[in-house]
Amino acid sequence: MKISNKKDLKSVLESQGFSFKKSLGQNFLIDDTVCPRMADAVSEKNVGVLEIGPGAGVLTAQLSAACKKVVSVELDTRLKPVLEQTLGGCDNVKIIWNDILKIDLKTVLAEEFADCDTINICANLPYYITSPVIMMLLESRLPINTIAVMVQKEAADRLCATVGSRAAGAVTVAVNYYAEAQTLFDVPRGSFMPPPNVDSAVIKLTLRDNPPVEVKDEKLFFKIVKACFAQRRKILLNTVCNTLGLEKEILRNALNEIGISETVRGETLTIEQLAALANALYQ
Ligand code: SAM
Repeated sequence: MKISNKKDLKSVLESQGFSFKKSLGQNFLIDDTVCPRMADAVSEKNVGVLEIGPGAGVLTAQLSAACKKVVSVELDTRLKPVLEQTLGGCDNVKIIWNDILKIDLKTVLAEEFADCDTINICANLPYYITSPVIMMLLESRLPINTIAVMVQKEAADRLCATVGSRAAGAVTVAVNYYAEAQTLFDVPRGSFMPPPNVDSAVIKLTLRDNPPVEVKDEKLFFKIVKACFAQRRKILLNTVCNTLGLEKEILRNALNEIGISETVRGETLTIEQLAALANALYQ
């Protein structure tokens, strides 16, 4: 049995009476070439890998072969008999039946990967929670090195865009603050069962030891970033004043102090300029 083979996967799922739930983002990989490349992106000596959403276990099996230990968090307990069948021989895999957004990841990582030198994360993410999961992984300051995840192509383009370019959004700045982001490869919709309506891409986030800019108050920095992208076509002076309830004069002075035009649109600022603005507004 080859779980990445459409016919074999179908037969396993049918034998367990499993039906796909769109609401859980269940599009399972049926492309032989994808999982080895994803596993490659996170495999290194003595590495423990946290997987999010193993589904029928196609990526899990690949990670099991390439890494010291794999812990996979899956929400849908209907997959229990399926994974028992497909991961039978994978002794270094543990499944935790829970919601990735609700478990205490710090404790899980400390308990499960105490004997590993490095912890990485790998997943074909359920698309309905792509951004919340990525932001949670970054903001929690977990002891991880690399995150390699499959996301919708459009999300990949935004997450890996250059800050200050048209493709960037508030999430681009946030990702950039915590990690270096790169697109590894594209994956067409036909590589999944059932096929989603969009193409996908695998991205790699390499976590930084320190942010690329120094900000005096992270909360204020991210508030300003959000405000800058909330109404992209409007000038920063208006959007930031409205969102933060600031007097225009204060913002004008801050912009002058750091040498940025009063008519600039927030989305065009670099991460250095955004940090300088946050620092100039910090009291
Ligand atoms: N890894 C498999 C593959 O590549 O074929 C399945 C990927 S599928 C896109 C996403 C998986 O995430 C599904 O198995 C789904 O049940 C699971 N999932 C959805 N929401 C989840 C959540 N909040 N926590 C953990 N797993 C979740």
